[in-house]
Order: sequence, then C-alpha cells, then structure tokens
Amino acid sequence: MAIISSKSSPEPQPPKKGDSPVEVTAPQPGAAPESLVREPQKSATQEKTPPAAPVEDGLRPQKLADYIGQKSLKEVLDIAIRAAQSRKEPLDHLLLYGPPGLGKTTMALILAQEMQVDCKITTAPALERPRDIAGLLVNLKPGDILFIDEIHRLPRVTEEILYPAMEDSRLDITIGKGQGARTRSIPLHPFTLVGATTRVGALTSPLRDRFGLIQRLRFYEVDELTQIVQRTAQVLDTPIQADGAEEIARRSRGTPRIANRLLKRVRDYVEVKQSGRIDEAIAAEALELFNVDPCGLDWTDRRLLSVMIENFNGGPVGLDTMAAATGEDAQTIEEVYEPYLMQLGYLQRTPRGRIVTRAACHHLGYEESVVPDFRSEQQLSIM
Ligand code: ADP
Repeated sequence: MAIISSKSSPEPQPPKKGDSPVEVTAPQPGAAPESLVREPQKSATQEKTPPAAPVEDGLRPQKLADYIGQKSLKEVLDIAIRAAQSRKEPLDHLLLYGPPGLGKTTMALILAQEMQVDCKITTAPALERPRDIAGLLVNLKPGDILFIDEIHRLPRVTEEILYPAMEDSRLDITIGKGQGARTRSIPLHPFTLVGATTRVGALTSPLRDRFGLIQRLRFYEVDELTQIVQRTAQVLDTPIQADGAEEIARRSRGTPRIANRLLKRVRDYVEVKQSGRIDEAIAAEALELFNVDPCGLDWTDRRLLSVMIENFNGGPVGLDTMAAATGEDAQTIEEVYEPYLMQLGYLQRTPRGRIVTRAACHHLGYEESVVPDFRSEQQLSIM
C-alpha cells in the first residue's frame, strides 16, 4: 500500500512547489521536536507543508486488529470492509469526527491496508483551487482512499466538485468563462472518501449527507491508553513497567497522540537521569517537571480554569471573552482544550457561556468561598 500525503506536518519541512501530493518516506521511530501536549496550531501555510510526520507514521498500527480501543467503530468498519470485499466494491464514503489525535488518520491508513488499496492524504485548506482536488481525483485508482483532514474547512468550490465525484464517480469541470463557459464531465474510478473533522456541525448538510458512514471517535480509557503506551514503548525500544505505562496513560487526556508524546518526554528524562526502566514514580516525576498534572491538565488548562474562577466568579463566560482574557485562540480553546475539560466534568457549556464546576475548583485547590458568586451548577446549566 502506498501512502501519498500532502497533509501538514508539525515539523518544518522544505517547501514543495504547489500542493500536489508527495510520497511519504519510510517511517523512522524516534523523538521529534513537538509541543508536549498541545496540537500544533495549523496555519494556512503549515497546512500546505507536506508530508505527514514520518515519526508518527512509525507508531501507527497497521491492521484493524492492532488498533486499540474504539470498539464500536472497529465493529462497524469491520463489517463494512467485509461487505465491500465480498461485493468487490470500494468502501462507502466515511466521515470520522472527534478531537485531534484520537486516530482518524490512522484509521484511514488501516482501511487502505485492509482493502489493499492506496491512500492519498491531504488536508482541506490545501485544496484551495478546483485544480487541486481535480488533480487528486483523476489520479485515484479503482477503490483508492482519499483522506481529507479538517474537511469542514473545504472551500465551497472544492466541495461542489466533490458532490458528483462522491455520488457518480464523475468530475465536472467548467472550461472558459462567462457566456462561452462549457461544462465537461470526466469519468473517475470509484473511490472512497474518508473525511476527518473535529467539528462535524461545521460541515454543510449536502456534504455530510453524501457520507454513507458517519462515525465518532471518543476519548480513550486509561487501560486502552496503557496498551498504546506499552506498544509505542516497544516500537521505540524503551523499557517500561506496567505501572509506568499506566501513569503516562492517566495523564494523556484520553488521547493516543498525547500518550505517545508524553512517553517520549519521559524516555528523555529516564535517559538523562540514567534511571533504567520507566516506572510509576519516574513517570510521575518527569511529567510533573513538564507541568502535566495527574489528571493530564497542563499549564494552559489550569490557567483557563483559574482565570474563569478568579476573574469571572466561575462564569458564565463567553468563548471570545475567555480567549481575550487568556491570550489563547478561541478556536483552539473550543476544539482542543474544552472537550477534555468537559469530559473530566471541570467545565460546562451553557447557552450563556462557559462555567467551571465545583470539581474543577477542588482540583485546583480553590475553596468555594474563593468564588463569591458560586451558584449551583444545576442552576447555571439551565440559565
Ligand atoms: P488524528 O488523525 O485523529 O488527529 P492520528 O490518527 O494522527 O490522529 O493519531 C495520532 C497518533 O496516535 C498516531 O501516531 C498513532 O500512533 C496513535 N494512535 C491513534 N489511535 C491509535 C490506536 N487506536 N491505537 C494505537 N495507536 C493509536
């Protein structure tokens, strides 16, 4: 299976001409200069910078059976794969949604592997011009998978080209302008579009309706993340004890990508301190140093909550106000920080804004009296 990618990379890459996909080199396990916990903020220029991080590729499971967790997603896709194989047809178009780092790209690559087809990886903002998507579509072989990350950010023109391509394997292109403009249809090979998004609500309904399968990825349980950490440690040839893997898993915000990053930081720590195997105490010590607390909250999470408590009496606070008060980007707060804080029960979204919960106050060591106006969470959620 060849993997072709024009996806953004967290690592700086030499700029490539145009947005056309490029071959990904063989994955090399090892450390990369990544941010510790956070998803890299994707800027328009970064998105055009190919390819996907080779380091991350080396850690990805290759088969559905090796994909840890997401039980119901795997069951649904296993049936879809077997049905498509028995009919000798491509898989139905699939939309995967959920917070970053939960395994959407990994799943697209596994599907290609299982279906024995190629997977082309791109990201929506790299498909600015009609010719970007047209070039990708005409080069797909029968059954190939086209993976579009951040699909909610597809430009309108590109999205409209996708409609007939997804439905009728047809590329409609307009030649010329004004009165002399003509439309030509080019037949395409049937293919599978796998779209990934962190914001399923931001997709237009015509696009969403064209996906035969729409599946959500959820945060991972600690025991699932423990297995992922152990597997990654094996790939990286890093000795680790079960309790060490569990300690890293507990602090990984339910997210495999973060679990892998934290493991690499703990590995660095252990190597420098020459403390041998990673155990629970060493993992905790290292992650405290990197400001990741026992719940997986980092400095920014704690700052978001404490600003809400100290400056806004615990809320409700609007997203933009929170962004201005903390200096964080509103979209990053919404897509990266909040889902996990809500999952922990530390933050609630109400029609009037965000509020912190008592559990968050206790976790951060605030007394209720520190929050003079602290009202019952029940009351606030119905405000
Ligand atoms: P997304 O596309 O949702 O942002 P990725 O598919 O890029 O996330 O996954 C990030 C990293 O997490 C990958 O390098 C992969 O190694 C790891 N990963 C994700 N899901 C799993 C899983 N279910 N089992 C093992 N590793 C996983």
